[in-house]
Amino acid sequence: MELLMALVVLAAILVLAFFRASIWSWLLAVVVLVPVAGIVYRISADAMQVIFGIVAAAVVVLGVPYLRRRLVSYPVLIIFRKILPQVSQTEQEALDAGTVWWDGELFSGNPDWYKLIHLPKPVLSEGEESFLEREVEELCAMVDDWDVTHVRQDLSPEAWQFIKDKGFFGMIIPKEYGGLGFSALAHSAVVAKLASRSATLTVTAMVPNSLGPAELLLHYGTQQQKDQYLPRLAKGLDIPCFALTGPFAGSDAGAIPDSGIVCHGEFNGQKVLGIRLNWEKRYITLAPVATLLGLAFKLYDPDRLAGGETNCGITLALIPTDTPGVKIGRRHFPLNSAFQNGPTQGKDVFIPMDYIIGGAARIGQGWRMLMECLSAGRGISLPSSATGSCKMAARTSGAYARVRKQFKLPIGKFEGVEEALARIGGNLYVMDAARLMTAVAIDLGEKPSVVSAIVKYHCTERGRIVANDAMDVHGGKGICLGPNNYLGRGYQQVPIGITVEGANILTRSMIIFGQGAIRAHPYVLKEIRAAHDTSNGWRALRDFDAAFFAHIGFTMSNAVRSLLFGLGNGRGIAVPLVVNERYYQKLTRYSAAFALMADAAMLVLGGSLKRREKISARLGDILSLLYLCSAALKRFEDDGRPPEDLPLLHWAMQDALYRIQMAFDGVLRNFPSRIAARILRTFIFPLGMCLAPPSDKLGHEVATLLMQPGEARDRLTSGMYLPDDMDDAVAALEVALHSTLECEPLQARVEEARKAHLAGKVMALDDLERIAEARNNGVIRPEEAILLERDYELRRKVIMVDDFAPEELRAGH
Ligand SMILES: Cc1cc2nc3c(=O)[nH]c(=O)nc-3n(C[C@H](O)[C@H](O)[C@H](O)COP(=O)(O)OP(=O)(O)OC[C@H]3O[C@@H](n4cnc5c(N)ncnc54)[C@H](O)[C@@H]3O)c2cc1C
Repeated sequence: MELLMALVVLAAILVLAFFRASIWSWLLAVVVLVPVAGIVYRISADAMQVIFGIVAAAVVVLGVPYLRRRLVSYPVLIIFRKILPQVSQTEQEALDAGTVWWDGELFSGNPDWYKLIHLPKPVLSEGEESFLEREVEELCAMVDDWDVTHVRQDLSPEAWQFIKDKGFFGMIIPKEYGGLGFSALAHSAVVAKLASRSATLTVTAMVPNSLGPAELLLHYGTQQQKDQYLPRLAKGLDIPCFALTGPFAGSDAGAIPDSGIVCHGEFNGQKVLGIRLNWEKRYITLAPVATLLGLAFKLYDPDRLAGGETNCGITLALIPTDTPGVKIGRRHFPLNSAFQNGPTQGKDVFIPMDYIIGGAARIGQGWRMLMECLSAGRGISLPSSATGSCKMAARTSGAYARVRKQFKLPIGKFEGVEEALARIGGNLYVMDAARLMTAVAIDLGEKPSVVSAIVKYHCTERGRIVANDAMDVHGGKGICLGPNNYLGRGYQQVPIGITVEGANILTRSMIIFGQGAIRAHPYVLKEIRAAHDTSNGWRALRDFDAAFFAHIGFTMSNAVRSLLFGLGNGRGIAVPLVVNERYYQKLTRYSAAFALMADAAMLVLGGSLKRREKISARLGDILSLLYLCSAALKRFEDDGRPPEDLPLLHWAMQDALYRIQMAFDGVLRNFPSRIAARILRTFIFPLGMCLAPPSDKLGHEVATLLMQPGEARDRLTSGMYLPDDMDDAVAALEVALHSTLECEPLQARVEEARKAHLAGKVMALDDLERIAEARNNGVIRPEEAILLERDYELRRKVIMVDDFAPEELRAGH
C-alpha cells in the first residue's frame, strides 16, 4: 500500500509537471494527496496537524495572487535585479532588434511540427525564374574568374555595366523605385548562382543588396531621400557602400571612435545647420568606387543645436563621395579576391542635417537601425553565397572523384575519399535547406535575428568544411591556380565569409545563445522587462510574478519531459508525420532537454554566462543544430519526399543529432556546478548517450550519389551555374563524367582482353595505344574505339592543370 501511494504521488508530480499544470492544480493535488498519504503512512495526528498547517499556509500564500506576489515574487525580483547582467545600450538594441521565429519553438521544448510542415514551400515567381535563367546565366557566362582575379583585379567593364543595366544592384529595391523588387528567396537564389561562378562577382552584386544605403533608406529614409536615391541605386547610377568598421572598432562596432559634431557651416553657398565629421574606416566593400557613402558615426551636439541630448549616439548618414574632404579610392587586397574593398577617411567633412538617414528624427538610432536590418539581411547574403559555392564544389568533386583514377580505380571508390565526399554532400544538403527555410521566413515578414545568426555561422562554417574536402578530393588539381582551376579561389576566400557580418567565433560564442536565451525563451525577456520596469513598481511585480511562475512550470515540465523522453529516446512522442517520425521525436526530445539545460545554465551562471563563452557556444550549437535539422526535414517534405535523397537527409540528420548529443556532453562536462551537472545528466541522458555519427555505409551511399548523374545530384546542386562551353573546366568535367560512365564497360572489356592476351607478358602501353591495340585485335569496334579516344581526351583535359611562363604569372599579365 505504501509503495502504491508513493507511486501515485510520483505519477501525480510527473503528470502535473509534464502538462505544465497551473498553481491551482498543484495545490488541489496537494490538498487531496496529503490527507490520503497521512492515512496510508499512518502519520500521527499531531504531525498531521503541522502538515495541514503548512499546506494551508502554502495554499493561502501561493493561491492568493496578492500574497504570492508580496511574499514570494517580490524577494525573488529583488535578487533577480541584483544578478541581472549589465546590458549596454548597444547590446540592448541588438536584443530588441528583429523577431522570434522558429527559434522560439525550439526554445519552447515542444516544437509545433505542424507549423513547420505547413510553412510555404520556397517558390519563385515567373519573373524571378526568368531573371535567373537569362540575366544571371548571361552574367555568369560573361565572367572568367581567372581574368578577374589575376589579370584585371576587377570585373570587366562589360560585366560592371551589365550588373548595373540589368538591375542587380536593385534586387531589394521595390519596382516603384525602378528596382527588381525581388523576394528574399529570389535574392538568395541569385547570390547562390553567382557564387557558383565567382566570389568577386558575388560580393560585387550582393553588397548593395545587403546591409547598406538601399536597405536603410527603404526602412528609415525620408520620402525625399527615397525619391532621390533609390531610383539611382536601382539602376547602378549610384554605387553604394556602407562604412561601419574601423581600425579600432571591428567586432565591437558599437565602439566606433568616428565622430560628428553638430554645428553651423557653409553648404552650397549657404549657412546651414549640419555636422562636421571625422572618420577613419577600413575593409569597406565597394568604397574605392562608391559614389554614395553610408557612414556610421557617433554624433555629439555640445551646443544642443539640434535640440536633443549632447551625446546623441550612433547615427547614420548618406554622403555623396564627391563631398569635399571624403577620401576613397585606395584598395585592400582580400585574399586575392578582386571585389572593390578599401579604406575611407574624412577630415572635417561638413554635411547638412538632411544627409542623416531618416533626417533629424533618426539621430542616435543608428545602431538599432543597423541591427534591425542585419537581423534579416544576415540570413541571406553569406548563407546563399556559401551554399552556392559549395554546390559547385560538390558537383565538381563528385565528378572528379569518378573521372580521376589512381591505383586503377576512380579515387571516389576509395573509402578515404568517400568520407570526404559524404561530408560534402551531407553538409551541402543541410546548408541549402537552412538557406531556403530562412529566406521563406524573411518573405513571410520575419526578421529572425537569432536564426539569421545561426544560418550565417553554420553555412559559412560548413562551407569551410566543404571547401577543404573538395580541395582534398581534387589534390594538386585544386591547388594549381589558373583558368582551369574552379576551386582554388573559392577556397582562398572562405575566410571572408567567416569574418564579415559578425565574425564567426563571436557569432557562435556570444550571439547565438546569448541573444537566443533572452529573445527566444518564452519567459526570460518578460522577466527582464519586468525587472527593468522601475516606473511602476506594482505593474513590474505583477508581470514578474506571472512570468516567474510560468517559468517554474516550464522548467519543471521540461525536466520531466526530458527524463521521460530520454528513457525511450523519444519513442512515443506524438508527431505529425509517420515519414521520418523518429527524427521528429528525437528533435522534440532534445528540444525539451535544451530548454531545461538553457534554464539551468542561466540559473547557475546568471550574469557570468555572458563571459562563459565556451558554454554559451555549445548551447548555441544545440539550438543551431535543432534549427538545421528542422530545415532538413522541411526541405525533404517540400521536395516531395524523394527516396533518392534519403541518404542525404539521413546523413544530415544523423550527423546533426550526434553533434547535439556531444554538445550536451560538452556543456555537462564543463558545467561549473558538478552537482547540477550530475542531476542534469540524469534528466537528459537517463540511459546514457546512445547516438552515433552516420555510418560508413551511409557515407558510401552519399558519396555514390555525388559521383553519378541523377536526380538527387541535380537537386543537391540545383540553381548553380552550369556552363556549356567545352573550354570551361566545369563544363568539360561534367561531360567527362558522362563519358567515363558510358565507356566503363568498354574499358573493362579492353582490360580483360589484354589480361587474357598477355597472360604474364609485360607490355607497357599508354591509353591510346591500348585502345588501338584493342581495335586492331577486334576486341572493340571502330566506333567504340572513337568513343574511348574521346573519353581519354576528355579525362586528360579534366586532369590537366595550367602552367605558365614565369612572366605570365605577373599580376596584370
Ligand atoms: C573583405 C571584407 C569586407 C568587409 N566589408 C565591410 C563593409 O562593407 N563595411 C563594414 O563596415 N565592414 C566591413 N568589413 C568588416 C567586418 O565586418 C569586420 O572585419 C568584422 O566585423 C570583424 O572585425 P575585425 O576584422 O576587426 O576583427 P576583430 O574584431 O579584431 O576580431 C578578431 C577575432 O576575434 C574574435 N572576437 C572578437 N571579439 C570577440 C568576443 N567578444 N568573443 C569571441 N570572439 C571575439 C572575432 O570573432 C575574430 O575571430 C569587411 C571585412 C572584410 C575582411
